[in-house]
Amino acid sequence: MQHLLDLSLEQIEAELASWGEPRYRAKQIAEWVFRHGATDFASMTSLPPALRTRLSEAFTIAPPPVLAVRAADDGGTTKALLDLGGGDAVETVRMDYDPDGDGEPDRVTVCVSTQVGCAMACRFCATGLQGFTRNLTPAEIVTQVLHFSRPSQGGRRETRPGEGAAHRVTNIVFMGMGEPLANYAGTIAAIRWLTRPEGLGLRQRGITVSTVGLVRQIDRLSLEGLQVGLTISLHAPDDDLRRDLIPTAGGTSIDDLVEAARRYIERCGRRVTFAYALLDHVNDEPEQARALARRIRGIQAHVNLIPYNPTAGPDLRRPSLGRVRAFQRELQAAGINATVRIERGVEIAAACGQLRTDVQHAATPLPLVLDA
Ligand code: SF4
Repeated sequence: MQHLLDLSLEQIEAELASWGEPRYRAKQIAEWVFRHGATDFASMTSLPPALRTRLSEAFTIAPPPVLAVRAADDGGTTKALLDLGGGDAVETVRMDYDPDGDGEPDRVTVCVSTQVGCAMACRFCATGLQGFTRNLTPAEIVTQVLHFSRPSQGGRRETRPGEGAAHRVTNIVFMGMGEPLANYAGTIAAIRWLTRPEGLGLRQRGITVSTVGLVRQIDRLSLEGLQVGLTISLHAPDDDLRRDLIPTAGGTSIDDLVEAARRYIERCGRRVTFAYALLDHVNDEPEQARALARRIRGIQAHVNLIPYNPTAGPDLRRPSLGRVRAFQRELQAAGINATVRIERGVEIAAACGQLRTDVQHAATPLPLVLDA
C-alpha cells in the first residue's frame, strides 16, 4: 500500500478533492502526522469517520518496524536500523549536541539514508561494499526523521497533554547510506516535507545534503530555490587518487567539482563544505594538504577532515591524531578553513552502512537495545 508521505501536500489536496473532500483536510492530516505523531488514520479524530476509513483503505502512514537500536556517547548518539520490507533495511542516526551538559541539547541532528546500498562504490565505505539495491521513497526518508521525533524517542511534539518535555530535531544531514543526489527526486520531495510549515517545519539552513560529486545534480539543486547546505566529498588532492578511492568518479575532475561549488555558492548564498576522509599514508601527507589547498583556494568553502572509521576495507587505516593535526595545520597555513569532524558513535559504528553490515553478518545476536 502506498505511504501517504510519498505524495506532496498538493498531491494529497488533489486526491482529496477528487474524493469530494475539502482541500483543507490535507493540512489537518499533515498536522496529525507531523505535530501529533499519528501513525494511523483512525486516531485522527478531527476527520469524519468515513474519511478516516477511506484513507486507511487507500494509504498507510505506519512507521517502519525497528530491527535494532544502539546507543553510545552516554545516550547522545543513537542509531536505528529500520525495516523497509522485502529484506531491505536502512540506518538512521540521531546525535544530540549538549556542550554545556545541562540536558537540553543545543542541536539535535538526524543523519538519514537515501538509498538501500549505494552504487558509488567508495573504497573506504561499508555501504559502498554492499552494492546498490534501490532508491528510498520520500516517505521512507521522512519517516527516518519522524522515528527520532516521536515522543518515545525523545522528540518533542507540541500538543498532546501529558507528553514529557524532550528535544526537537533541529538539523538533518543527508549523509547516511546512499548518494542523495543519485536519488534526486526522493531527496527533494523529502526536503520539502521536512521544511514546509505544514510538515516538520525545519529551517532550510538546518539541512545539509552530502554528495560524492554529481555535478549535474549539484547544479540542479542550486536552482531549486532551497537554502540547504551542500557538502562535496573530495577525499583526494588529485584526480588519479580520487578515482582510485571513488571508482565511479569517472570523468568528473576536482576542478569540475570546485566550479560546481562556486556556482552553488553564487546561486544559493551558502558556503560549501568539502569533506575529506583521512586515510593513513594514502591521502594524508603534508604535500597532499598543500596540493588540496591549491585546488580549492579562492572559493568560499571550508574543509571538514574525517579521520577514517576503520571497518570497511582491510587495506585502509585510520591516521594518528598527529598526522590528522599536521594535515589540518598545512591547510590552515595555506589560508583554508579546516576543521576535524567531532567523533560520534564510533563504538556503535556510526559511519554509513556499518550497523546494517554488522547485523546482517553477525553469527550471534548483537547486544541490541530493542526499540520500545
Ligand atoms: S561514501 Fe557515500 S557515496 Fe560513497 S559508497 Fe558510501 S554511501 Fe555511497
